[in-house]
Amino acid sequence: MQSAREVHVVSHPLVQHKLSLMRRKETSTQQFRQLLDEISMLLAYEVTRDFPLTTRAIETPIAPMDAPVIDGKKLVVISILRAGDGILTGFLKIVPSARIGHIGLYRDPKTLQAVEYYFKVPQDLSDRDVVVVDPMLATGNSAAAAVARIKEKQPKSIKMVCLLAVPEGIRTLHDQHPDVPIWCAAVDERLNEKSYIVPGLGDAGDRMFGTK
Ligand code: URA
Repeated sequence: MQSAREVHVVSHPLVQHKLSLMRRKETSTQQFRQLLDEISMLLAYEVTRDFPLTTRAIETPIAPMDAPVIDGKKLVVISILRAGDGILTGFLKIVPSARIGHIGLYRDPKTLQAVEYYFKVPQDLSDRDVVVVDPMLATGNSAAAAVARIKEKQPKSIKMVCLLAVPEGIRTLHDQHPDVPIWCAAVDERLNEKSYIVPGLGDAGDRMFGTK
């Protein structure tokens, strides 16, 4: 059982250095994507640290041995569209056999609530660990709505991985889902009046896809 309201900031110097490069407004789309890919691999490394191991009998060219392998069913990585795909790509380089899901949400301009427009995940999540990915945990509304939807499928566990978080987003997610631990590269100061993270890095989707 995961203890409540966990936040893990991955303070590894490589992650911190790459994040600083990503934040710079001069960083090109190509560099931004490359850096996000690299950081995502390092975040994947950290978030999978507690995966249980079992052993399997193998033969090396020299001798038989019981070799450690990851136990249980394949991990499921669920990307919150569209920026989540930036983390997904790096994740799959480290966990290439992971199953993949996507969830699309938009913010209703009147109610400001997250409305689902797309949901496709592996059919049976019941014995599987799920990692939800989205680079920016800003208001936390999308992440909380995505987690609520995924919980309907009763996965074994859910973890949230993002690049940047703010206290507001963490609070929103953990008020609704205290059992979902968060991994991020940094917790920034606050949200501005347009719900952008300050100091942040701007619009993660636009920066990674070159749409602005
Ligand atoms: N989404 C982004 O892409 N950037 C922010 O700062 C907040 C939400």
